[in-house]
Amino acid sequence: MMNKTVIGLEIHAQLITETKAFCSCRADVFDLEPNTAICPVCTGQPGTLPVLNKRVVEFAIMAGLAMNCTINKRSVFDRKNYFYPDLPKGYQITQYFFPIAENGFLYLENGDEKRKIGIRRIHIEEDAGKMIHQGTDSITGSSGSYVDLNRCGVPLIEIVTEPDLRSPAEARIFMELLRDTVRALGVCSGDMEKGALRCDANISMVDDSGRSSNRVEVKNINSFKFVEKALEFEQERISRILSSGGDVAKETRSWSFSSKETFSMRSKEEENDYRYFPEPDLPELIVSED
Ligand SMILES: [Zn+2]
Repeated sequence: MMNKTVIGLEIHAQLITETKAFCSCRADVFDLEPNTAICPVCTGQPGTLPVLNKRVVEFAIMAGLAMNCTINKRSVFDRKNYFYPDLPKGYQITQYFFPIAENGFLYLENGDEKRKIGIRRIHIEEDAGKMIHQGTDSITGSSGSYVDLNRCGVPLIEIVTEPDLRSPAEARIFMELLRDTVRALGVCSGDMEKGALRCDANISMVDDSGRSSNRVEVKNINSFKFVEKALEFEQERISRILSSGGDVAKETRSWSFSSKETFSMRSKEEENDYRYFPEPDLPELIVSED
């Protein structure tokens, strides 16, 4: 039996603008002391208003054009609502219903083969802060956790591919192609190890009879090598379940670089848990032909 592998990627690329997406705090916060690049806007104080950084729009358009996307002359910012200590506003500003760019593609070369990989959409969003857990990598078993809000409001573009990738190796090659593209444009450092490029992968498999497994989302992939390794692990795991006649659970799994395997984080949440709605504090983004 020969199963077909179907992979799509969601990639967050941090834009190398001088200032954050909606305030004038510096955007390069990688080596800074915690909570030293924050202001009332990016920490969500009552009564503050976001102002869009023009450079963010220019960089998103450059990425969209380089990936052969249609640039939408009208796009809209939305709120993605959820609670977490590293998100003081209680929502992230993103573009959900009307992204700035969509329907693009990149050509992927794998040996002698050259294939078109669809880019479904590119949208602008802001990053959240981060938690630092004392003594461990996760909140479980930690004696205390700290919140660093420096990353709140750092500008990102999220690039969503069509499920056109057919192997873990292709996914890695695509990530390398994407890194080279954003680096050549000068919009992102492309440094996965520093979190400037982050990737979530969706994988499913179709068996000989055309039966498709549920889709599994793999998060926490932070190097080019691990894109391939994490997806190889999932490909084998899903194949094993399919060949034993079982059902693959629709879930989100996390890649552990220490144990080199994925583990279940949660059963897949539905999109509407986030209760997206248009951001009332920002006007629609209208882009002229020029
Ligand atoms: Zn700020």
